Amino acid sequence: MTLKLYDVAIIGYGPAGVTLANLLGQFGLSVVVLERDAEIYPLPRAIHFDGEVMRVFETAGLRGEVEAISRPGLKGMYFNNAVGETLLIRAGTAARGPHGCANNHYFHQPELETVLRSGLQRYANVHVLLNHEITSIEDGAEHATLRYKDLRSGAMHTTSARYVVGCDGARSITRKAIGTTMLDLGLHQPWLVFDVRLKKEVPTLPDHTVQHCDPERPMTYCNVTGNRRRWEIMLMPGDIPEQMVQSETLWKLVGKWVTPDQADIERAVIYTFHSVIAETWRKGRLFLAGDSAHQTPPFLGQGMCAAIRDASNLAWKLEAVLRGRAQDDLLDTYASERAPHVRAFIDLAVKLGDIIQTTDPQAARERDARFKAGQPEIFQFPTPRLGMGIWRGESAPVAQIFPQPMMANGRLLDTLLGLKFAVIGDPSVLDGVTDETRELWQAQGAVKLTFNDPEVRAWFDQHGVRAVVLRPDRYIMGLANTSYELDSISTLLPAATTLAH
Ligand SMILES: Cc1cc2nc3c(=O)[nH]c(=O)nc-3n(C[C@H](O)[C@H](O)[C@H](O)COP(=O)(O)OP(=O)(O)OC[C@H]3O[C@@H](n4cnc5c(N)ncnc54)[C@H](O)[C@@H]3O)c2cc1C
Repeated sequence: MTLKLYDVAIIGYGPAGVTLANLLGQFGLSVVVLERDAEIYPLPRAIHFDGEVMRVFETAGLRGEVEAISRPGLKGMYFNNAVGETLLIRAGTAARGPHGCANNHYFHQPELETVLRSGLQRYANVHVLLNHEITSIEDGAEHATLRYKDLRSGAMHTTSARYVVGCDGARSITRKAIGTTMLDLGLHQPWLVFDVRLKKEVPTLPDHTVQHCDPERPMTYCNVTGNRRRWEIMLMPGDIPEQMVQSETLWKLVGKWVTPDQADIERAVIYTFHSVIAETWRKGRLFLAGDSAHQTPPFLGQGMCAAIRDASNLAWKLEAVLRGRAQDDLLDTYASERAPHVRAFIDLAVKLGDIIQTTDPQAARERDARFKAGQPEIFQFPTPRLGMGIWRGESAPVAQIFPQPMMANGRLLDTLLGLKFAVIGDPSVLDGVTDETRELWQAQGAVKLTFNDPEVRAWFDQHGVRAVVLRPDRYIMGLANTSYELDSISTLLPAATTLAH
C-alpha cells in the first residue's frame, strides 16, 4: 500500500500547531495535523499576546475574528506595594502602535484557539485528525514516517511527510525523537492560577493589570476579557497545594478584591512555571515549535507569543524549500534565528520573576524604593534581533521586525505584502539594481513598493536609509542606501534548488 505523503505533518493542535497550519494552508501546501485530544484544552492558560502576534494573525487573514474575541490592553501595568500604594506604572500603549494595532491584547485561550481552528475551514489542503495520538516518529532520507493511534477505535495507522513539526507541547514526543535535552534557565516556581467570572460589575476591580508586590504573598491581578478576571498567586513555604485550591482558601486569598456573591470560580490550578529551552530544534526532517522547544514563566505573557513567532519564522522557509525555491539548509536558520530571540524573552521573564517574587522584606523595601524612584528600565518590552540567519547588517533595526505603518490609502502595509519577500524604498534605488537582482526578486515573487506614503517615509528618514528588504515574516533582511548595496543584500535571498520535492 502506498502511504499518503504530506508536505508537512504537524503534531499538536495548540496555538503553535494551529497557527502554523493556517500559514501553511495559505501557501497551498498539503498538511496533516494530528492531535491527541478530542476538544480544545478547556482551561485558560494564556491571556495576553502582543502586537507582533496580532500581525501574524492578520497575515493569516484572521485579525478581525481575533479582535472580536480579544480586547486591546491600553491601560498598562501597575506595581503596588503590600498596602496597595502604586509604586510604578508601566505605561499602556497606543491603540495603533508600531505593529498597526495595540501592543497588548487580552483574551481567553480556548476562544482564541476556536477562532484559529475555524480559520482552517478555508483550506481543503489541511487535514485535521483529532483524537489521534502520535506513538512514534521515524526520520528517513526521503520523508519521515509517523505511527499514530485512533483513540476512539484503538486502530493504528501510518502516514508520512516531507517535514514534521512537533508542536506537541511540554512533554513532546517529537523532542524525544530528536533526542535533545532542555537547557534549564533557572526558574521553577509553583503559582496558583485562579480564574473567576464576575456575576455583576465590581467597580472597585481595576481594568489594568496589577502586580501586588507583597513580600508575604506576591500576586498578579488581570482583567482578561468580558467578565473574566484572573489572580496568579505565588505559593509560599508551608502552603499545602491541595488546600490552596479549596474554594474557602481561594476566596480568603482574594477577599480584599472580590467575594463569592460577586463572582463564580472558573478554575484554580497550581502550575510550576519553568524556564527551559531545547538544545536542538531540528534533526533531519523533524522540527520543534512552541512549548516543545521552550517554556517561560508567564510574567511577560510570552510563552504562546513565542510559539506564534516560531510558526511565522518556519512557515515561509518550509514553503520555499518544499516548492524548490530554496535549499534545505534554509531550514537550519529557523533554530539559529529563533533560539536566541526567545531566550531574550525567557531571560527577561526570569529576571522580572525574581523581582516580583521577592519575599525577603529588606529586599522588597529596596525594590519598592527603586520602583518609587522610577527605574522602569527592566520593563522595556524586549525587541531582540534574530540570531544568525538570513539577514545581514551590523546593528538594529536589521534582524528586527519592520513596523506596520498605515499607507496614505488607509491600508496597513502588511495587507499589500502577503506572505512574500518585499523590497521597499526610493524608486531611484530600486530601479538601479542589476538584472540579476531583478531575477532574484522575481524568483521569490518579491513585492516591490516605493516609499511615498508619509508614515513609511518617516521610518526611512528616522533610520537614514533608502531601501529595505523584508522577509515574508516581516523581519528586516537588510538595508541599503544605494542600488549597489541593494544588489548585495538581495544575494541573501534563498537560491533555487534543482532537487525535486
Ligand atoms: C498559567 C499560564 C499562563 C500563561 N499565560 C500566557 C500569556 O499570558 N501569554 C502567552 O503568550 N503565553 C502564556 N502561557 C503559555 C501558553 O499557554 C503556552 O505557551 C501555549 O499554550 C503553548 O502552545 P503550544 O501549541 O506550543 O503547546 P500546547 O498548547 O501545549 O499544545 C500542544 C498540543 O499537542 C498535543 N499533543 C501532545 N502530544 C501529542 C501526541 N503524541 N500526539 C498528538 N498530539 C499531541 C496536546 O494534546 C496539545 O493539544 C501561559 C501558560 C500558563 C500555564
